[in-house]
Amino acid sequence: MKVPFVDFTPSNTQFRERAIKTLEQVFDKGWYILGEQVQQFEQEYAAFHKVKHCIGVANGLDALHIALRIKGITKGDEVIVPSNTYIATVLSISFVGAKPIFVEPNPDTYNLDPNRIEQAITPNTKAIIPVHLYGQACEMDAIMQVANKHNLYVVEDNAQGQGAMYNGKKTGSFGQVNATSFYPSKNLGALGDAGAITTDNDTLAYKCRVMRNYGSQKRYYNEVIGLNSRLDEVQAALLRIKLQFLDKWNAERNQIAQIYLNELKNTGDIILPITAEKATHIYHLFVIRTKHRDALQEYLHTKGIQTVIHYPIPPHLQECYQHLGYKKGDFPIAEELADTCLSLPIFVGMTQNQIQYVCDTIKNFFQN
Ligand SMILES: *Cc1c(COP(=O)(O)O)cnc(C)c1O
Repeated sequence: MKVPFVDFTPSNTQFRERAIKTLEQVFDKGWYILGEQVQQFEQEYAAFHKVKHCIGVANGLDALHIALRIKGITKGDEVIVPSNTYIATVLSISFVGAKPIFVEPNPDTYNLDPNRIEQAITPNTKAIIPVHLYGQACEMDAIMQVANKHNLYVVEDNAQGQGAMYNGKKTGSFGQVNATSFYPSKNLGALGDAGAITTDNDTLAYKCRVMRNYGSQKRYYNEVIGLNSRLDEVQAALLRIKLQFLDKWNAERNQIAQIYLNELKNTGDIILPITAEKATHIYHLFVIRTKHRDALQEYLHTKGIQTVIHYPIPPHLQECYQHLGYKKGDFPIAEELADTCLSLPIFVGMTQNQIQYVCDTIKNFFQN
C-alpha cells in the first residue's frame, strides 16, 4: 500500500464543482485584485475568529513581516520567538532589522514555554511571536500575562493553528496583530500562495491595509513606504468555500490523530504529542519522536509510507543565521526535537486502511 504524506484529492473532490463555478464568476467579472471576493473573505475570516478585522495578504511570511513593520519594530529591537519554529517566523524579524531572541519550547507540547519568556526580556525587547506549532494552541493566557506586564506587542503566528483554541478562544485573536498562511498544505489552504492578518485594533488594522498596498489607501496617495502584498480575488474566492469546511476537516484530522494516539501508545520508545490543559489541537501535523527516527523513516519509506521532518535544523543553526554566533548546544530542547521528530501522514480523506497500515508498519519496525 502507498500512503502519501498529503493527498489533496479527497478534500478537493468535496468542493470541486463549487470551485469551478466560483472561478468562472471571478474570471467573468474581470476584477482581479482587492475586489468583492477579498472583502467578503476578510469579513468571514474575521468572524470565524470573532475579531473585528482581517486583512488578506500575499502569504504568511508577509503577514508576519507587516505585523512587525507597522509597529515600527526595527534595528536595535529584540523579538522573542520559539527556538523550534519554522524559519519564516524568524525571517520576518530579520526583514525589519530586529534581532530574534530564541526561547526554548515546553518539551511536552513543543510550544513556547511561558515560564522561560521573562528571563529573555531585556530593555530592547519589543515583541513576542508565539507560534501555534503543529496545530496546538500555545498557552496564551500565561503568554499574554507576561506580555502585558512588560508592555510587549504580541503577534501570533497562526499559520499552523487555524481553528485551534485556548481556553475557549480562537488562536489568532489573542495578540494585537496576528498572522496566518494559506499555503496549500495548511489546514485552511489556498490553491497557491496566500495569507492574512487578524486584529481587533482599528488603528493597526488600517496600518496593515495601507502597508499591504504600496502604503496607500487612496490610489496614488502614499502615506508610508509600503509593500505590494495583496490577497488576490481567485484565492479569496476559493478560501471562502474552503473556510466552510474548516471545522469539519479539523474534526476529521482529530479523529485520525486519536487513532494514532491509541494505536501507537507503548510502541518502542515513541513519544506521542501531548496537548496542554485548556488548549485544543487541530493536528496540522502529527509529530512523533523517537531516538530511531532516521531508521524508522527509512523503513516506512521502503514500505510505501511517506513522512517528513518538521524541522531538521533549528533556526539558530541555519547557515543564514551564522552571523548571530550560535553553536550546537545553545538550545538543547530545539536541537533534541530536530533530531528525533517525525511527522506521520495526516490529511482529510485518509482512509481507515491507510491509517491502520501506518500504525501496523510502525509497530513492525519496533518489534524487529
Ligand atoms: C507556513 C508557515 C509560515 C509561512 O507561510 P508562507 O505562506 O509559506 O509564507 C510561517 N510560519 C509558520 C509556522 C508556518 O508553518
